[in-house]
Amino acid sequence: MANILVYALHYEGAINKNSLGAVSEGARLAAELGGEAHAIMLGESVPRELAASLGAYGAKKVLVAEGPEGLAQPLVDAMAKAITDGGYKYAMFGGGLLGFEIGAGLAARLGAGVVMEVTNVRVEGGELVSERPILGDSAISQVKYRSQVGIVIGRLNAFEARQTGDGEAAVEELSFELSPHASRATMVTRGEQRGADVDIEGADVLIAGGRGLGKAEGFKLAEDLAAAFGGNSAVAATRAVVDAGWYPYAAQIGQTGKTVSPKLYLAAGISGAIQHKVGMQSSENIVAINKDANAPIFEFSDLGIVGDLNKILPKLTEAVKAKKGA
Ligand SMILES: Cc1cc2nc3c(=O)[nH]c(=O)nc-3n(C[C@H](O)[C@H](O)[C@H](O)COP(=O)(O)OP(=O)(O)OC[C@H]3O[C@@H](n4cnc5c(N)ncnc54)[C@H](O)[C@@H]3O)c2cc1C
Repeated sequence: MANILVYALHYEGAINKNSLGAVSEGARLAAELGGEAHAIMLGESVPRELAASLGAYGAKKVLVAEGPEGLAQPLVDAMAKAITDGGYKYAMFGGGLLGFEIGAGLAARLGAGVVMEVTNVRVEGGELVSERPILGDSAISQVKYRSQVGIVIGRLNAFEARQTGDGEAAVEELSFELSPHASRATMVTRGEQRGADVDIEGADVLIAGGRGLGKAEGFKLAEDLAAAFGGNSAVAATRAVVDAGWYPYAAQIGQTGKTVSPKLYLAAGISGAIQHKVGMQSSENIVAINKDANAPIFEFSDLGIVGDLNKILPKLTEAVKAKKGA
């Protein structure tokens, strides 16, 4: 029986959306393997009802451990103990930096195989195969695990949170020992990334920026234009720029981001990859600015402007301001 242990990150009384996705995906895969998905939560005092609520996402059991939440090393200690004692065959994480760090630590501790940035997992011959985009997302690599324990770390938003479970999960205490080095780091403060609460799904006007903006500071041009429109306007982004850290993940549109249909979608410096298109193609009016006349985005734009966004965006902002002031 191959059981899967999924890490569930919680913050301010709620379980992180990527973790809910990982629990759902873990439950689907465990069922195919003839096993169960269990979750693990760590914290100063994890609310038991929060842990039990993971049952709705398919977790049969949730292990709750006492320790500092949000730091990787204590979680490596807790998960290594749970995996060794419980004989789990796989450990799973939703996307995010913490998962990368814990997964890497666990791999080192347990001699486990680890695959990061996973966008899909399937069962083949009673074992998991992790699929991961490589070479700038132009190819998919399929990875099987040879190790006793296999670690799957998802790409952010790759796994959809689905309420497929019934009832509450059983909650069990897990006691473990912190290794000496695990308490050398302490949490100073936790907070949401700037813009993490942007509501791009509800916006009427979206100014979306891509790699053509050149750098994080380039987003100022998009923000100025959105501010000129005022009202229900927001700034959105492509996967390439959120991965580069130029803009928050919450603003990402596309296959592994959000799906939007604003009245106006203005794409600045976005090539128009299929994975981006699926998230915005139902917008009422699509306007694209791109210096490459052959960019795919022009194939599904209502209005295309071929030129340098650094010149066009400020002029558009002035024009919108002038119109609004008129
Ligand atoms: C499984 C999977 C899931 C994915 N999910 C998503 C997703 O959810 N969302 C998403 O967006 N992508 C996703 N991707 C990535 C996607 O394939 C593209 O790599 C990404 O959308 C490209 O982002 P971009 O348009 O910002 O960058 P690029 O493709 O590099 O395009 C930049 C564009 O800017 C133009 N440009 C450059 N300078 C200027 C200038 N000065 N003025 C005007 N134009 C300029 C260039 O001509 C170019 O067309 C996914 C990929 C995979 C494999």
